[in-house]
Amino acid sequence: MERREAGSVSSPVCDLLLRASWIVTQDARRRVFEDGCLAIRDGGVLDVGAWADTAPRYRAAEVRDLGETLVLPGLINVHAHASMTLFRGLADDLPLMDWLSRHIWPLEARLSPELVRLGALAACAEMLASGATCFADGYFHEREVLAAARTAGMRVILGEGFFGFPSPMFPTARHCWDVVEGLREATRDDPLSRVMFMPHAPYTTTPESLRESMDLAEALDCPWHIHCAESPAETASCLEMFGQRPVPYLDSLGCLRPRAILAHCVDLSEEEIALLAERGVKVAHCPSSNMKLANGAAPVQKLLDAGVVVGLGTDGAASNNSLNLFTEMRHAALLQKLLLLDPGALPAQAVLDMATRQGAACLDWTGIGSLEPGGRADLLALDLTAPGLQPLHSPVSQAVYAAHGGEVRLVLVEGRAVYEDGRPLGIDLPLLRRELAAAVRWMRDHRA
Ligand SMILES: [Zn+2]
Repeated sequence: MERREAGSVSSPVCDLLLRASWIVTQDARRRVFEDGCLAIRDGGVLDVGAWADTAPRYRAAEVRDLGETLVLPGLINVHAHASMTLFRGLADDLPLMDWLSRHIWPLEARLSPELVRLGALAACAEMLASGATCFADGYFHEREVLAAARTAGMRVILGEGFFGFPSPMFPTARHCWDVVEGLREATRDDPLSRVMFMPHAPYTTTPESLRESMDLAEALDCPWHIHCAESPAETASCLEMFGQRPVPYLDSLGCLRPRAILAHCVDLSEEEIALLAERGVKVAHCPSSNMKLANGAAPVQKLLDAGVVVGLGTDGAASNNSLNLFTEMRHAALLQKLLLLDPGALPAQAVLDMATRQGAACLDWTGIGSLEPGGRADLLALDLTAPGLQPLHSPVSQAVYAAHGGEVRLVLVEGRAVYEDGRPLGIDLPLLRRELAAAVRWMRDHRA
């Protein structure tokens, strides 16, 4: 690390000047700079451009030459259940309903807040290691997820999950609203954390609780996030319970609005795609989870063609089994090409958009998902000396199709290093491993 004064005495001051062989900005013009420079001040991006043009304009407290690296905006995971890292590999290769009702829900009913925090911390370590800087989380005891995200230095949007029937966490939905209010209070002055409402799914909630949660989301001006149309089996349950398919059902309740984020959206008709576009609803695409549970392929290209904003999510580690958005980018592209038997479907740039600027739009979080003046300095740097990343013709192609995430060398959130050279800087990895081993012993003793 080099400290120096660049520029002249009259030049604007910045905290950090970063130099990298490539900077992919993901700004509106999708500018890419070779031998790029990023000027950072107060956690935000002050300037970005070619090193030769940009660097001389600033006096910097610190200059870091990242060498042969590819800098991207930090990736945004729009649908996660961080604490489910606890269940990674616990029950694989099963149908969704069987997997949930026989293996996951019985254990979740016994989870302590401490275990939720532990699972979330493991997830943060994993997400940082593969370049995610922000995640939308739906689970229980979200205050613990907030604590883990703060330890890791990540951005988070917290969704305290609820069901229509009395759950282990809440006897009624009203109890959940109180928790959301508390979380909102806890995140009020924090630039890195926010809240959302997170009803589990149409088939596990009541019409009243869905309506009420949307009214509250409107009142608090925060996103409303739900699993929807995840599989043909879910559609069948919804038809049986409410006489409608999931998307028209949510529309009949007034829940299809621009603040709604629908996770999965695998089983959609042409009319439903048009309706989602008309209502301005956002979609969280989770290709690995959809493939692993054999739920089908979401019609992502059709959604994008219709004008729907689509972000990328990992879903929980129990159904993925990793929380790596590089894997999701690759899977999203390949799955869509296979679905449509069209190699032009979901090209690299569209996939990178989903993992960055579209993800930010999905969560309605301005200032992230791109590296441009006025935005936040959330970024990752890929080591281009890794054998799989040479030679390089197209930085975007390299990031989407060639990188696997293990090449991430540095991650900044709000201009601050939170992951470097294999270490999440806020997390004690050896301690985390010991605690996870103890959690595995606990789960062995408590399986149904
Ligand atoms: Zn999910």
